[in-house]
Amino acid sequence: MADTTLMSIPGQVDPVPVARDITPRADGRIDLIGLPKDRIRELFAEAGLDAKQAKLRAKQVFHWLYHRGVTDFAAMTDIAKTMRPWLAERFYIGRPDVVEAQHSTDGTRKWLLRTSDGHEFEMVFIPDADRGTLCVSSQVGCTLNCRFCHTGTMKLVRNLTPGEIVGQVMLARDSLGEWPKGSMAGLDEVEDSAEYTSDGRLLTNIVMMGMGEPLYNFDNVKGALKLVMDGDGLALSKRRITLSTSGVVPAMARCGEEIGVNLAVSLHAVTKEIRDEIVPLNKKYGIEELLQACADYPGASNARRITFEYVMLKDKNDSDEHAHELVRLLKQYDLPAKVNLIPFNPWPGAAYECSTPERVKRFSEIVFEHGISAPVRTPRGRDIDAACGQLKTAAEKKSRAQRDREAAAAEATEAAAG
Ligand code: SAH
Ligand code: SF4
Repeated sequence: MADTTLMSIPGQVDPVPVARDITPRADGRIDLIGLPKDRIRELFAEAGLDAKQAKLRAKQVFHWLYHRGVTDFAAMTDIAKTMRPWLAERFYIGRPDVVEAQHSTDGTRKWLLRTSDGHEFEMVFIPDADRGTLCVSSQVGCTLNCRFCHTGTMKLVRNLTPGEIVGQVMLARDSLGEWPKGSMAGLDEVEDSAEYTSDGRLLTNIVMMGMGEPLYNFDNVKGALKLVMDGDGLALSKRRITLSTSGVVPAMARCGEEIGVNLAVSLHAVTKEIRDEIVPLNKKYGIEELLQACADYPGASNARRITFEYVMLKDKNDSDEHAHELVRLLKQYDLPAKVNLIPFNPWPGAAYECSTPERVKRFSEIVFEHGISAPVRTPRGRDIDAACGQLKTAAEKKSRAQRDREAAAAEATEAAAG
């Protein structure tokens, strides 16, 4: 990976390769996707435009890139005809490469994507009656090894760049044909402050719940979400964006202050012993510390509650006592909370089973009886391995299957010999 630099990630022992904000392309052009307006202005100035021109062109190009979704400078009709080829010679408007797109029988779609340096990652779109949610990845793989999560069995390859993160949302809009249309007579249109609403749209919400731990890739996730929330960018309200963390306590306050999106926390257990086992990060940031950080989360209120995700694992974390303890903890910290119960999605080789439907129902009732909403999340896209925790790239799955076959063959040889 010649185009990556090393950066250490807080809480992690190993330095993790992180791509730079600008990934040089083989043809020398610079991909603008993922860059904020000021950075685009700087690049235009470096390429030879005077300060005033650079500022004006950056504003126009930014609007075309992120608000209109154009992928060709030739389509930027308010920029002088002679200027467009000048831009195209020096700059590029990229998208992640699509390796494969799958469609589930329930309408869920999954894309296997590839970065320009050849790493695969996934994104999922989940349509519902009243909304459409895009599940976005923040890393290729994950460092955190939660025991029930398939992504956690991949090693972390690298953080995704802001361009690769916002690129997922842009690609989804391309596929769904959902870029705002309209005339581009001038940039002074009222549109600047327009907000992207759910009227007749498929993609209305974003969850940072794909592959990876978003708070271990804070700066890039922040950069990408700023572009998503910018009124002149993708213009999606922060109220429609949820970031899910397994509990990176030191980054949570910053997430609320600097990004301001809704928070989901992967709690999954109410005792130290069990959480240590299933979410190993708990050994570093324990339940009390985590819930205190939730109580302090900037912007949380009864109108904007924190979601506590709880994966239902048979005979592990699903008893009546666990449900009561969950209620007690949420009340003790006075949390504006809702609980999302996720039936465990099995994958080959997983050490757990999903709780029975009766158990999940009873657990949900107990929490609900104490005044906390606790819906059960319907698994979506299971037939295409798109459900929660199943994201793991096909290439990795294959190599693992390959490894399993090799291990079985080796065992057979040993058995025959012995
Ligand atoms: N790393 C972040 C976000 C990605 S995971 C986090 O852990 O919060 C999104 C959600 O799916 C998390 O709540 C995660 O715990 C859950 N999940 C992971 N594997 C799962 C599985 N096999 N079945 C059900 N939910 C799973
Ligand atoms: Fe990483 Fe989240 Fe999976 Fe844990 S549940 S291994 S933090 S992606």
